[in-house]
Amino acid sequence: MSNAQPKEFDVVIAGAGMVGASLACLLAESSLSIALVDRKRLVQGKDSDSPKLHSDKFDPRVSAISQASQQLFRQLGVWEDMSAARVCNYSAMQVWDAEGTGSIDFSAEQINQPELGSIVENSIIIAALHKRVAQLENVFSITPFSIESFEQVEDEDGLIVKLNADDGQAIRAPLIIAADGANSKLRALANFECREWDYEQHALVTTVRTQLPHNNTALQRFMETGPLAFLPLRSATEDDAQHFCSIVWSMLPDQAERVMSLSEDEFNSELAAALESKLGAIEWSDKRFVFPLRQRHALDYVKEGIVLVGDAAHTIHPLAGQGVNLGLLDAKALAEELQRGIQAGRSVADPKVLLRYQRRRKGNNLSMMWLMEGFKRLFGQQDLSIRWLRNIGMNAVDKMTPIKNQLIRKAMGLDS
Ligand SMILES: Cc1cc2nc3c(=O)[nH]c(=O)nc-3n(C[C@H](O)[C@H](O)[C@H](O)COP(=O)(O)OP(=O)(O)OC[C@H]3O[C@@H](n4cnc5c(N)ncnc54)[C@H](O)[C@@H]3O)c2cc1C
Repeated sequence: MSNAQPKEFDVVIAGAGMVGASLACLLAESSLSIALVDRKRLVQGKDSDSPKLHSDKFDPRVSAISQASQQLFRQLGVWEDMSAARVCNYSAMQVWDAEGTGSIDFSAEQINQPELGSIVENSIIIAALHKRVAQLENVFSITPFSIESFEQVEDEDGLIVKLNADDGQAIRAPLIIAADGANSKLRALANFECREWDYEQHALVTTVRTQLPHNNTALQRFMETGPLAFLPLRSATEDDAQHFCSIVWSMLPDQAERVMSLSEDEFNSELAAALESKLGAIEWSDKRFVFPLRQRHALDYVKEGIVLVGDAAHTIHPLAGQGVNLGLLDAKALAEELQRGIQAGRSVADPKVLLRYQRRRKGNNLSMMWLMEGFKRLFGQQDLSIRWLRNIGMNAVDKMTPIKNQLIRKAMGLDS
């Protein structure tokens, strides 16, 4: 933080990840002064640069971005930069049960849309958002500032929340928005109660080159130990354009330990077999990373002067690629409610305004979380009769066009 920067703001957003940075861009449309704080420096780029343009290396972390999130990025003026850098639109998705014949095919055509969604590398999303943040006059980035503690102090204008960094620096605002991710320090410091449980699964992620083209189709095979997803990527080279995928392979923790220790050749053949060789051989794979999976949901999103958004409020199994999409819907709803409150002459930390945000988002997030939990339990079943019913059910849903279309629209964020 430089000496020239103010230390008092209307709103502090803690966390400049995909959700916090999007929220800063949304709130910049108001007259509020906003501090965007992160323990890491924001991604710097010249004004004319598109993020990560023409880079040959794929980020191992990618997100399946729904149409609703894409619309939000368009509204913020960042989608063009992301598309110029690299996005892969996918128009179909195949989901099948490893234990039987059950399968469902989704296609954009079925619901008269050009695509189901887009796969975008997280670093590209963040770079585009940070570039936009740097152009906004009422958003002050305060980095690297690692939040270590906070205190609530009585001020002549009411309650003020003061955030302290590890080096003793402090900033103040009547409203602090915690967008500091799954292990939110602010959530813990403010004693927000959470319901949480371990999925007893780890997600292994990496990038692979496949023998056969992906045809802009996302693939997901459900196994008893967890789902395996192949998410199509777009390569800059014409010959290779459809041969790269990002994979998210959820598995039991001891299985993850074993798979992480395999040589590249061993890993590639196990992976090809796990996908039933649908894309032929795996010809190359990048460095592997593993993430323990936990489901977590805060019982409340709002306390005096503090609001939770994104992964700070809820973390969800990545099997349907919904985590950041839900977080972006939180950001949109909170920005709308704050702006509505300001227009009605209310203060930014007015509990009525903040509770309206909580009411709009909590039920929606919870229903998605229960759906993911249901999938996880259903496919973890060893009971033969349940497996049989599951396969029949999948094939039945596949044939029920209205239900299938409703599922697609929900996943695309078109029906929230
Ligand atoms: C394997 C995997 C695959 C996934 N795939 C998808 C997908 O396809 N689609 C999808 O929608 N979602 C997906 N998700 C979920 C998605 O990645 C998260 O929902 C998303 O990253 C959450 O964004 P966020 O901005 O809320 O938090 P984060 O991305 O965690 O950002 C938090 C920010 O806060 C900062 N911060 C943290 N602590 C402090 C502190 N004390 N002081 C200052 N700053 C701090 C961090 O530096 C960071 O910049 C996936 C998740 C996993 C694990």
